[in-house]
Amino acid sequence: MSDSLQEKYSRQMLFAGIGPEGQRRLLAARVTVVGCGAIGAAAANLLVRAGVGSVTIIDRDFVEPSNLQRQTLFDETDAREALPKAVAAERKLLSINSSVKVRGLVADLSCDNAEELLSGCDLILDGTDNFETRFLINDFALKTGLPWIYAAGVSSYGLTMTIRPGLTACLACMVENTVSTRALEETCDTVGVLGPIVNLIASWQVAEALKILAGQTDALSGRLIASDVWTGHMQSIRVTRNPQCRACVKRDFTYLDGEAQPQITLCGRDSVQIHERSRALDLPALALRLRPVAQDVSQNDFLIRFRVAPYEMTVFADGRAILKGSKDPSVARSLYARYLGT
Ligand SMILES: [Zn+2]
Repeated sequence: MSDSLQEKYSRQMLFAGIGPEGQRRLLAARVTVVGCGAIGAAAANLLVRAGVGSVTIIDRDFVEPSNLQRQTLFDETDAREALPKAVAAERKLLSINSSVKVRGLVADLSCDNAEELLSGCDLILDGTDNFETRFLINDFALKTGLPWIYAAGVSSYGLTMTIRPGLTACLACMVENTVSTRALEETCDTVGVLGPIVNLIASWQVAEALKILAGQTDALSGRLIASDVWTGHMQSIRVTRNPQCRACVKRDFTYLDGEAQPQITLCGRDSVQIHERSRALDLPALALRLRPVAQDVSQNDFLIRFRVAPYEMTVFADGRAILKGSKDPSVARSLYARYLGT
């Protein structure tokens, strides 16, 4: 290691858990961050500053003014120019630490490109905003034996857990056991989110990442960590493996195989239909969440209709939705995840 690198990482190497050997491992490590919203941006920032040798960021969105309150890598210029988050993040991160490799990929991670985009890294960090993509990462990680770290934050609370194939419970084990439907249906675009919770969760996530990358796996928490910065409630839960788990036991990789993806089909001029399977929505509760954030929300016993200019979305009680104003499946997937969760 050169003198300038010794100097740059000196405070981290003084920490006994890392040391010079841990730092050398970090410099050789490759991490992919999927999603660069608040958690992904904070995680990528910490990884690059820590000297993780190669950081890849995958994101499908662009920077908007409403992101700046919590997404700490972006600034007003990025929002004014509506830069893709992956591009803005790459620029900012290289100005923070030019001695590591940073790659921003503007892409919507899906079963079609997962192998291509996720192969070749040592660890995947979850910075996504929806469970469909998280289950895809879970499938890929289990299939290839890669560790990944789940993280989510909404409102004032958040969750994170390190998933190591064959050694810990996986996301499918966890969701079936512990996560309430509240966590699956609320989104930052409906109930809002505080900057402190997403940055706190990203800090837990990156601390776990540093332990894995530095070879200190004995120090991993091995638990689901949940905190709420508003109520002060903190919990760490041991999640046991489900002996019947579809993903980590039966190795049925539904999301990676493309069978669980919402089917998106063209319907009429400038409209697409999103078919969600077996999902019963609580329409009155959804309408309450949508009223403050969408326009012209109307509801009857069968459906909710609302506008998010320039789009109009109609959502049926069985989870099916029709989006007017676009023929682009990735726009449909993104809006569905933002307003309805998954
Ligand atoms: Zn499992």
